[in-house]
Amino acid sequence: MGDYAFPPPPVVALATTSGRPFPVRRIFCVGQNYSEHAREMGGDPDADPPFFFTKPADAIASGAVIPYPPATFDFQHEVELVVAFGGGGRDIEPGRVDELIFGYAVGLDMTRRDLQAAAKKKGRPWDMSKGFDFSAPCGAITPKAETGPLAKGAIECKVNGQTRQRGDLSDMIWKVPEIVRFLSALVEIKAGDLIFTGTPAGVSPVFKGDDIEATIAGLRPLTIRIG
Ligand code: MN
Repeated sequence: MGDYAFPPPPVVALATTSGRPFPVRRIFCVGQNYSEHAREMGGDPDADPPFFFTKPADAIASGAVIPYPPATFDFQHEVELVVAFGGGGRDIEPGRVDELIFGYAVGLDMTRRDLQAAAKKKGRPWDMSKGFDFSAPCGAITPKAETGPLAKGAIECKVNGQTRQRGDLSDMIWKVPEIVRFLSALVEIKAGDLIFTGTPAGVSPVFKGDDIEATIAGLRPLTIRIG
């Protein structure tokens, strides 16, 4: 080992408010986890257990500017609470989830909505509408030791100073312990994994030059410009 065909890619890492960076392993995302957003997407908030999709770890964007992506005319923001894991396991009981959480951050599940709508219509996968380059801007992680378990608090997204999304973490259909119970029944969660926990209503398109400010009470805000 060590003599690779080419240099291996660098570890993707997120800043933390406590010092040492957090190495990212995988990114899981929950779909339609706030009732009003589920309705605006044409879903039924009461219908099903949570469903998941993924983004590659190197979709993380922690710079101040992300490029407007190719192949879309409808590039949309989704502000989300991000849960970062310092431990993991399979079939995790809700009562054990808190001890496995390293911390929380503000994230944006950036979406090529036109590609997603086309994929939904044909029953095709969402990868190219959700998991493209720079599709996962994420702010610094605040350790759980500083926040406690985050179950309520304002979550908001402004574009050029105007509020587009506003909700409360307590409005989640599936709370974090339940999300982890379902996800860990599908895959073994490991340290370094992130879960984007869904977005409140009000998703809308952004354009080159727009400034996005995503905030969650108690966490470091995330601000990015579309370049
Ligand atoms: Mn989302």
